[in-house]
Amino acid sequence: MKPATAFFIAAGLMLGLTLAMPSLTRVRFVDEPSIATSLPDNAGGWKGQYILFCQNPEHAAGYILDELTTKCPECGGDLNPLSIFERAVLPDDTRADKRQYTRSDGTILQAALVFSGRDRASIHRPEVCLVAAGSEVIGNKRRLVTFSDRKPLDLQVVNVQQSRKLADGQMVYGKTFFAYWFSGHGRETASHPVRMFWMAWDRILRNRAYPWAYLSVTGIYDQPGDAPLQKLDDFIREIYPLMHSNVTITSETKD
Ligand SMILES: [Zn+2]
Repeated sequence: MKPATAFFIAAGLMLGLTLAMPSLTRVRFVDEPSIATSLPDNAGGWKGQYILFCQNPEHAAGYILDELTTKCPECGGDLNPLSIFERAVLPDDTRADKRQYTRSDGTILQAALVFSGRDRASIHRPEVCLVAAGSEVIGNKRRLVTFSDRKPLDLQVVNVQQSRKLADGQMVYGKTFFAYWFSGHGRETASHPVRMFWMAWDRILRNRAYPWAYLSVTGIYDQPGDAPLQKLDDFIREIYPLMHSNVTITSETKD
């Protein structure tokens, strides 16, 4: 092949790709969530409360409330499940719900449900958010939660060491876990790269974007050994079926 011929073939390919680009980027957002768009009020023996953040930058307090309220009880600012910081970094069409669940034995877990919108950036690698002041990721592993009536659910469990300085200057340390999985367009995975692959697959080959849910559960290692994660398993077994019953599939919406 002569160099000139190669050049024209290459130029032709470039032009073809350029012409194809608009159709690649015209992705239709199909608002069909694979799981419920809000967390359940209660899950088995776990009683839920709302986690809400004041959106007034002067106040920005976090609340755990029995009733869903739209106004801050102290300053009257708007309340949102996402903090001011989270809203600043996430796209406007991100949907979220956060609850704190307490079991009769006093065990407390916090759950967050976040749905991606048209923009892929709504859900990013969760570890990114965990790198806060005084927090350090010290472990990362998979955990299978078994069910009596379905295949096991694969969870990613991130262990975080927290350190806080008390008013008297004394340092306190605690270890927390942060477990999550993703669900979108009938697929579920605990892997961020796998989720990115499926999102890209739907966008590039099908010109479709589907809302992906990111469901995370966090708790404290307040007992030795595996006991805290066994409580997590119990919670997942209660909440999973509730997130998959009565899923309302909305009709396709165009861009
Ligand atoms: Zn407030």
